[in-house]
Amino acid sequence: MRIAFFGAEGKVGSAIVPRLEAAGHEVHGIELGDEPDVGGCDAAVDFTTPEAAPANVRAALEHGVSCIVGTTGWEPAELGALAAEKGLRLFVAPNFSIGAVLMMRFAREAASSFPRAEIVELHNEAKKDAPSGTARATAELIGGDPIVHSVRLPGLVAHQEVIFGGEGQLLTIRHDTTGRESFADGVLLALDKLGELPPGLTVGLDTLLS
Ligand code: NAP
Repeated sequence: MRIAFFGAEGKVGSAIVPRLEAAGHEVHGIELGDEPDVGGCDAAVDFTTPEAAPANVRAALEHGVSCIVGTTGWEPAELGALAAEKGLRLFVAPNFSIGAVLMMRFAREAASSFPRAEIVELHNEAKKDAPSGTARATAELIGGDPIVHSVRLPGLVAHQEVIFGGEGQLLTIRHDTTGRESFADGVLLALDKLGELPPGLTVGLDTLLS
């Protein structure tokens, strides 16, 4: 596929563009200040900022191009409605790491067996939004309004633990992203499945995993 990639030179973009190219995709990088030129592209991918992503997605949809978005900290419902109107797809995932999605699944399963849980999410200091999209999605999945602790420090990439507490026992489910290349498998999966999704908004990599 020919892919318009918003934020190709960012930390995530520069880690995963080579993986997309190695898988046979042609990537057209679009950076801040560039025209959002998605002409001739089969899909657009966005890993930018919560401020930039809505305009990028709108520009792609207006040009008839379906979108895959990893940028967190923005509300996609309105653009999901625009995508549906145009018969296009908007796929948004707070976490494109397959291991992190499994961590969330396991946490959902554990939640019914413990009275209380708290979430600790740890990310690089450059991450602008807190709590992370993954932490918010996990909190919703496990229910009970768990407290979320956000840590932002240099040296971290993306880490999360869900700690369940019960009488005389603790269960900790933890996932560590040690390299941003880990997000490439999820983006490749989303590109592969994009055409099979219903028009409009689909949220979460979990929906693509059997
Ligand atoms: P980053 O290193 O700051 O990269 C963002 C890139 O987007 C930069 O190259 C930036 O350019 C560019 N940009 C800013 N505005 C733009 C615009 N209007 N059009 C095109 N490009 C624009 O950030 P990152 O660590 O790669 O993370 C990007 C986003 O992905 C964040 O929201 C982060 O939370 C999210 N994220 C999601 C996942 C996931 O699995 N869903 C994983 C990791 C990160 P300049 O440097 O010139 O401003």
